[in-house]
Amino acid sequence: MGLVERYAAVRKRIAQAALRSGRQTEDITLVAVSKTWPAEVVVAGYDAGLRNFGENRIEELVKKRPEVEDILGNERGIVWHAIGTIQSRKSRLAAENADVIHALDRLKLADRLSRHLVELGRNNNNQIPVFLEVNVSGEASKAGLDCSRWEHDASQRAAARELALAIDELPGLHPMGLMTMAPWGAQSQEIREIFRRTRELAEWMQTATSQTAWSCLSMGMTDDFEIAIEEGATHVRIGRALFGDRH
Ligand SMILES: *Cc1c(COP(=O)(O)O)cnc(C)c1O
Repeated sequence: MGLVERYAAVRKRIAQAALRSGRQTEDITLVAVSKTWPAEVVVAGYDAGLRNFGENRIEELVKKRPEVEDILGNERGIVWHAIGTIQSRKSRLAAENADVIHALDRLKLADRLSRHLVELGRNNNNQIPVFLEVNVSGEASKAGLDCSRWEHDASQRAAARELALAIDELPGLHPMGLMTMAPWGAQSQEIREIFRRTRELAEWMQTATSQTAWSCLSMGMTDDFEIAIEEGATHVRIGRALFGDRH
C-alpha cells in the first residue's frame, strides 16, 4: 500500500467512527504526523490531499517547513502543527514556525510564546491556536498538566482553570481546547476512559471559564484514533497509519 491508499483507508476509518458516534466527518481535522519523514514525503502527502502536518520536535519543524516551502511555495494552505512538548528555550522557534500548538502545559511557556508572537506582530487578529495539554491518566512519563484526579481534586481543577484563563489573557494565543495522550499499551477500555474524561474536563472548563473556546479535543493516534473520535476528538494526530512505520 502506498500513501494514497493508506490515506484513503484512514479517511474511511475516520468517517466510519464519526458515523458510529453521530458526528460529522468535517468536524474532525486529520493532522498527518510527518516526524522523521523527509520533506519529499510531506510533498507527496500534500499531493494526495493532506493539508495539516504535525511535527513533535521543533528543530525538525524548523528544518522541514522551509524545505517543503522551497518545493511547493509558502502559500499552498499547509498548516503546521507543533504536537510535542516544547522546551521553554525553544519557544521563539515554535512561535516563528508553528501555525498551531498542541502541547502547551505551563504558564512559563505560554508567557514566552506570547511575548515572541507579539514581537512577530501576531496581535489579536492573528492569534495562534493553542491546545492545553492535560495528563488525565496519571502516567508518570506523560507530559501535560496533572489532571489525573480532576473530578475529585478541587486544586487540580483550580490549576486547570487558572492556566486556561491566563492563556486566554495572553496576546497572540487563541485557546482551542485540550490535548491528551493515552497511556502506552493500555487496553481499549482504559483508553476510552481517558478520552472520555478528557472530554468531560473540556466541558467543565468551558463552564468554569465561561468560554466556549475550550471545546476542541486533540486526541487519538494510529492505534486509538477511532476510540478518540467516538469520544469527541476534533483533531486526530496520525503518523504510522498514513506514512508507514518510522525507521
Ligand atoms: C508521533 C506522535 C503522534 C503520531 O503517532 P502514530 O502512532 O504514528 O500515529 C501523535 N502525537 C504525538 C504527540 C506524537 O509524538
